[in-house]
Amino acid sequence: MRIPSGRTPVPVSASSATSGRVPTQHDLDTLSRQLNRPVRDVVEIPARCVCGNPLVAATAPRLSNGIPFPTTFYLTHPVITAAASRMEAAGMMTQMSERLATDADLAAAYHKAHEAYIAARVAIGERAGTGPVPEIAGISAGGMPTRVKCLHVLAGHALAAGPGVNPLGDEVLAALAPWWTAEKCYCEGAWNDSAPVPSKDLSRHVKHLNALAAKQAGEQKS
Ligand SMILES: [Zn+2]
Repeated sequence: MRIPSGRTPVPVSASSATSGRVPTQHDLDTLSRQLNRPVRDVVEIPARCVCGNPLVAATAPRLSNGIPFPTTFYLTHPVITAAASRMEAAGMMTQMSERLATDADLAAAYHKAHEAYIAARVAIGERAGTGPVPEIAGISAGGMPTRVKCLHVLAGHALAAGPGVNPLGDEVLAALAPWWTAEKCYCEGAWNDSAPVPSKDLSRHVKHLNALAAKQAGEQKS
């Protein structure tokens, strides 16, 4: 039996020859369709479906409007986000947080995942040329390093980093198996490929960010 060196090559590694990290316009359009809103400041595609479609988007640690953005890895595939939501509704976050409070080994590994998340974000910021973002230094996402507040964040990190980096993220991916596995493409029908690419962002979060940015720009001018 051949023992593969290093980690298993699923999902499709972002460094493989066929699918690059830097998003193409087609990738960006697919992300906007997956999320049903225009994506902004996506600088890399850290994990892809076996068919090549994005599973996770990496956002620059500082948005082009200047706002620091700690959630570097954003799960975009609708099949995976829906499954993660089901597991959240089933109470998986509470169970994980309770285990973190009692299992020292798990807590230590999860703390390492938190550090790996920040290190990956710094590296992405360097590659994207956004420079250091001191406002979010030491801050990761999803409740790390001591709690679990979002399974989508953990799954996104596990997909981006590969197995063995985020123990709870790996558990989320394993629990997705009834709905999604890395070996198969679940893209067909998961979003509307023939619809126009969403171009107007009406999400409350972005409206809030835009208002903040406009206010800051106004303050800087005055
Ligand atoms: Zn696919």
